[in-house]
Amino acid sequence: MKRLWCLLIFALAGNMAAQESNSPALHSFTVIRAGTLIDGKSDTVRHNQVIVIRGNRIDSVSDGATAKLPAGAEVIDLSRATVMPGLIDSHTHIFLQGEEPAQGGYDVNILKYPLALRAARATVAARRALEQGFTTLRDLETEGAGYGDVGIKQAIDGGYIPGPRLFVSTRAISTTGGYMLDDYAPELDIFKGAQLVDGPVEARKAAREQLDHGADWIKVYMTHRSWVGKHGELVSQPTLTVEELKAVVDETHGWGKKVACHAYGGIGLRRALDGGCDSIEHGLDLDDAAIAQMLKQGTWYCPTLAAYYHDWAPADTPQGQRDRKRVAVHEVSFPKALHAGIKIVFGTDMGGIPWTEPIAQEFPRMVELGMSPMDAIRSATSRAAEMLDMEGQLGVISPGAFADIAAVDGDPLRDVKMLENVKFVMKDGKVFKNELK
Ligand SMILES: [Zn+2]
Repeated sequence: MKRLWCLLIFALAGNMAAQESNSPALHSFTVIRAGTLIDGKSDTVRHNQVIVIRGNRIDSVSDGATAKLPAGAEVIDLSRATVMPGLIDSHTHIFLQGEEPAQGGYDVNILKYPLALRAARATVAARRALEQGFTTLRDLETEGAGYGDVGIKQAIDGGYIPGPRLFVSTRAISTTGGYMLDDYAPELDIFKGAQLVDGPVEARKAAREQLDHGADWIKVYMTHRSWVGKHGELVSQPTLTVEELKAVVDETHGWGKKVACHAYGGIGLRRALDGGCDSIEHGLDLDDAAIAQMLKQGTWYCPTLAAYYHDWAPADTPQGQRDRKRVAVHEVSFPKALHAGIKIVFGTDMGGIPWTEPIAQEFPRMVELGMSPMDAIRSATSRAAEMLDMEGQLGVISPGAFADIAAVDGDPLRDVKMLENVKFVMKDGKVFKNELK
């Protein structure tokens, strides 16, 4: 017993030391001179602003002409840059690596790679996100890597590895026949990339387990396979019943947390909304009834547009037709949802897209389909923070918020593609990268 206590004290002391070396001291001041400021919330930009940071929080934002700088503060000159809040990607998979079919696709991760390899690659993915100015990710399941996301989050929070703030969802939930690995011999008891349940009792139990082991969000797959139907429409196989989903949602809401539902369209989407999902992921094929219900229920929409332009199969194959149909209906659904006033957050499905590619490629897709650049930036800042119940804390440059800050050397409102070249990143009051010196 005594030995156990000693171990515990050592562990706590070690953790505290890591935390202390990670966060700047409370009394230390840093000042950023911002040439142009997009604060993440307001419609208009401000010029020549001074952001005072105390420790890991923003202390004040004021006009550069009159601002009083705290004595002894370190001054970072971003007076020729556009400064904005650190970005938030609300749909990633740090445990996936692009799933190139030529490299074994999705299945090789689970069938061949040891968990340590997958964790090492997830560590690199987390760093890639931070380098690109993404200081927060909602990571929507580990794809067979269990509770690995909880471990990576602990490593980041402890200061052992660099990375964004993570909101993790652990294993995800689907049903028998409702998730990969698919199409192996039925005699094999083959491993699955999500936790499969049948019936409301199992569904609730899976949610309890995942929440108990550190899930910040619960991820549910409400559709799985998809194909082009008889009449040329996109058909999606539904998974959980409304009763099963309601058990998950009821349990998760009881813990004060939220449920993200992968749903393409049709029966599965309807069940997702009837069951009370908090966010619809992908939502390729939103009909008018779904849009009306999302508006009424305040459901978030995380469209992940860019991901569907990747890896199309040849046009004369059923898969290739499906791939093209997915994009065709998505390009109708997104503008409809936008004009109806659905709450939209920026999400990419990175991991499905290789982490070597720019995360910000989603911005021009949103803008091409009718969103203003400022709204696209808000969908990756204050709007996402609202969904994450972190309003005023993340995704905004205002007093009291965490000092998560990114900057580019140009005007992203004129050319949103510029967000692919973030030159300055601060997370939690600490400069991670500065190419604007
Ligand atoms: Zn995904």
